[in-house]
Amino acid sequence: MSKVRLGPDGVHIFDRDSGTNVLLDEIVPPRDRWTFSPRQVSIALTNACDLECTHCYASKTPARLDFESLKQWMLELDSAGCFGVGFGGGEPMLYPKIHELCEFGRTYTNLAITMTSHGHRLNVPLVEALRSSVNFLRISMDGVHHTYEKIRGRSFPSLLEKLSLIKGKIPFGINYVVNEATIIDLTKAAEIAEEFHAKELLILPEAAHGRGKAVTQQTLTQLSDWIGSYRGSLQLSISSAHSELVRSQSPLPCEAEEIAFAHIDANGILKRCSFDSGGQVINDKGIMYAFNKLIEERKSA
Ligand code: SF4
Repeated sequence: MSKVRLGPDGVHIFDRDSGTNVLLDEIVPPRDRWTFSPRQVSIALTNACDLECTHCYASKTPARLDFESLKQWMLELDSAGCFGVGFGGGEPMLYPKIHELCEFGRTYTNLAITMTSHGHRLNVPLVEALRSSVNFLRISMDGVHHTYEKIRGRSFPSLLEKLSLIKGKIPFGINYVVNEATIIDLTKAAEIAEEFHAKELLILPEAAHGRGKAVTQQTLTQLSDWIGSYRGSLQLSISSAHSELVRSQSPLPCEAEEIAFAHIDANGILKRCSFDSGGQVINDKGIMYAFNKLIEERKSA
């Protein structure tokens, strides 16, 4: 079933199964009818991870979200008008009930269920379990061959084996952290992504957060040139901090940033984005209560 959000850009219709987004921008509903919920929420299910990537942003303090709370938050977000949740971490496939959680979202909500993973825990039974409940997978692949192995500490051929498990079964995209080491592999990475029928290349210029270092201006210039010359089949997206580099990035130009996106960390704190140090604890009053408080906090700042 399609979902509808009303806002300053018009009437936004989204279908999770096809991934179709339609904006009726000739109709701008009155302000008091605008949907008041985050459009998309990323959720760090756990801080646990079995890799030690050189640029990792994730917190290393052990924490994991409660399964029952997650189900409640998903129900609440769905009825408030949210379009989808994206599970991440740490590594979300280390979350003990990951399949049950995705299945719950699929069965009891109309949220699109996406997940960002390093991919190395995928196997045939897990792919079979997730293919009916996950709308889109995001697999991290920064660089190819030696570059990838140096950053992620895992074999690149084994990553390609994992991609072959999901090819044609679960729609997926590649998340690609761009830095001085990975920029030169972008063309090859895009070719590999196309070969495995990925739909999207999400470009993430490295940020100075956690173990990450800010990408240099020289690398951003190289990236801008690469984006301008790319003629392949992948849809290119980029993190919001560098949205000016991908022209088609802003389908909802009037949407306020705090309504577009929110993040829940593995301690159950609702934030504007994963890099924020503050936020609102989600207590027994629910996630929309915490969201209201977050918006108020922003207004008074
Ligand atoms: S970047 Fe992702 S896969 Fe790598 S260590 Fe951090 S959480 Fe794990």
